[in-house]
Amino acid sequence: MSSMASIIRRKLHHKSFIFQQRLFSASPENKKTQRIEKILIANRGEIACRIMRTAKRLGIRTVAVYSDADRDSLHVKSADEAIRIGPPPARMSYLKASSIIEAAVRTGAQAIHPGYGFLSESAEFAQLCEDEGFTFIGPPASAIRDMGDKSASKRIMGAAGVPLVPGYHGEEQDIDLMKSEADKIGYPILIKPTHGGGGKGMRIVQGPNEFVDSFLGAQREAAASFGTDTILLEKYITQPRHIEVQIFGDKHGNVIHLYERDCSVQRRHQKIIEEAPAPNVINDFRSHLGQAAVSAAKAVGYYNAGTVEFIVDTLSGQFYFMEMNTRLQVEHPVTEMIVGQDLVEWQIRVANGESLPMSQSQVPLSGHAFEARIYAENVPKGFLPATGTLHHYHPVPVSSTVRVETGVEQGDTVSMHYDPMIAKLVVWGENRAAALVKLKDCLSKFQVAGLPTNVNFLLKLANHRAFENGEVETHFIENYKDELFVDRSNSSSAQEAYDSAKLGAFLVAACVCEKEHASLKGRPCGGLSIWYVYPPFRVHHRARRTMEFELDNGYDKSGSCLIPLSVTYQPDGNYFIETGESSSPGLEAKVSHLGNQDFRVEANGVSMDASLAVYSKDQTEHLHIWHGSHHHHFKRKLGLELSYDDETQDNPAFETANHPPGTVVTPMAGLVVKVLVKDGTKVNEGQPVIVLEAMKMEHVVKAPTAGYVCGLQVTVGQQVSDSSILFRV
Ligand code: ADP
Repeated sequence: MSSMASIIRRKLHHKSFIFQQRLFSASPENKKTQRIEKILIANRGEIACRIMRTAKRLGIRTVAVYSDADRDSLHVKSADEAIRIGPPPARMSYLKASSIIEAAVRTGAQAIHPGYGFLSESAEFAQLCEDEGFTFIGPPASAIRDMGDKSASKRIMGAAGVPLVPGYHGEEQDIDLMKSEADKIGYPILIKPTHGGGGKGMRIVQGPNEFVDSFLGAQREAAASFGTDTILLEKYITQPRHIEVQIFGDKHGNVIHLYERDCSVQRRHQKIIEEAPAPNVINDFRSHLGQAAVSAAKAVGYYNAGTVEFIVDTLSGQFYFMEMNTRLQVEHPVTEMIVGQDLVEWQIRVANGESLPMSQSQVPLSGHAFEARIYAENVPKGFLPATGTLHHYHPVPVSSTVRVETGVEQGDTVSMHYDPMIAKLVVWGENRAAALVKLKDCLSKFQVAGLPTNVNFLLKLANHRAFENGEVETHFIENYKDELFVDRSNSSSAQEAYDSAKLGAFLVAACVCEKEHASLKGRPCGGLSIWYVYPPFRVHHRARRTMEFELDNGYDKSGSCLIPLSVTYQPDGNYFIETGESSSPGLEAKVSHLGNQDFRVEANGVSMDASLAVYSKDQTEHLHIWHGSHHHHFKRKLGLELSYDDETQDNPAFETANHPPGTVVTPMAGLVVKVLVKDGTKVNEGQPVIVLEAMKMEHVVKAPTAGYVCGLQVTVGQQVSDSSILFRV
């Protein structure tokens, strides 16, 4: 019978694709002796980019696969070759095994790396790859199968002497029997679907009276979600930690562990901050855990990278096997940082038949590492995934101790089709305290704007005293929600949030004013800015303008609030900024624009660095400021422009020589669709001069005053950026 690969190969031959040389090296008889020269990565996003990085370092060529939604994405650009595998829905592209095999045949890849998610834990896919002559960079299909069923895997683990949560994992599903098993285990009980994932269908049963309803409910949900309604029972651990062990095996029967990771801090049953090694764990416990994980892997004839997850009862100190993930985990980088190894390189070498590069006693453990997962998500709305454009994306610079694993660039879109993770921030320090300092510093400087993210929330988590002390458990976020979310009903925390936001608004106002000055400096004409008609010459007056910012609370529940400000231009080039609240003193700010989005602000004698990002979306101008460990997001309606007024002063005139009036800048980035007058034309006040199109809206740029148009250089079809100078009247 012809294999799928050979059918595809024949078809391709008809289409005159000549890949004989490559196909030869991909054939099952030859691959064992061949060095892997080309890998197809059956995944997308950060993990695809991360695998390619290692492959490139090893001199291995890479093939990306992509759906239509990912045509221009980073993983496609990072690969040597890329092949379209279908439309955006994963089931029609990244989950479609036949398309991936076809792509591997067409490109002559010898090996397939599944990454995590998608087909990575499909025993059928692993088997198909091997059957079709490709090296599957992962475990044997049999081990994936054994571990895919929670009950079966627990039976195997129990037989191998790996500790299990007291429970019932039998095949017999009769409700009376299950009830009597539950009574024997003792309440609270956790009911779990045997083929579950992502915490779906799990039910906590507090007492015998609740059992029947919960059991039937879990069965129904399991049948609907996983196609099978088999259930297992476990003692519910009330204060658990999630600690998992990285294991690695080769095809010669060697299995070692690379220590553990603590992944207790979770939301919606999903991890958001992981660390290695686990905090507050003694070496004895660590080595028992490691040995149990190695036994678990050996029990299923495991090779390649795997993770054995344990639940640790913080009350008794006991640990129990939970499940085994038969792939490279999202959080593998924290392990890499503490052992100084590249696990993707290990995966490739082991898949190619090489032995593990070290024995258990040679595995180093150095320092401490954290990973924070940066997601596009709506934290106040229960951490719901968010979509949108990354209008501004400046992750922190990477170094030997800071990694940013990302699959996106500024301008990319986080779509609804896939996981909304933007990046993984990974840091290393000589000890936990040093690593935590670095984590906080990097989170506070990690700039993402354009869609809601969890960065501010991660920073709050990292700053929480219980987290600082390593007192983590799976209910961490729930236990400390009052402190992690700003609550308006709590007046002191609301006041603190408001004061912090107000300082942010002051800085935005100061940086906005300075940016306008900087952009006008050295120009033949200054004048109108994006937000206001620049004050014309004033004699014996000081110019003053008002601004109003709406705070966008990306991470707390305090709702939006308006912050009105007035900025007075001082003769020495400084700004005096007030809120108009009698209780709030003004702030004298001296600002230097350091270039791009960076500023140095000296406010009432205190110097600080600030970064400002401005973009337009949905007829609204968005302003983000990062300063110290704070990030604030403000909004202003476009078109509702700021007013300015004159404040009579006895002081000398505000110097406007560099910034003559009448200059017009773009109100937003857009396309020039019409230029209605020629340079040098006489115009009346309010006469339309240019028509811009942005966000499917036309915006007419008018002459601010009567006079002659000068410096008009834009042409139809030209793309203009936000606040660029258009002309002067
Ligand atoms: P899934 O495969 O659906 O993710 P897991 O078995 O991995 O299910 O469990 C998911 C999460 O549920 C764990 O990380 C842990 O927080 C919690 N959990 C699992 N088993 C127990 C238990 N016996 N007692 C308390 N919490 C548990």
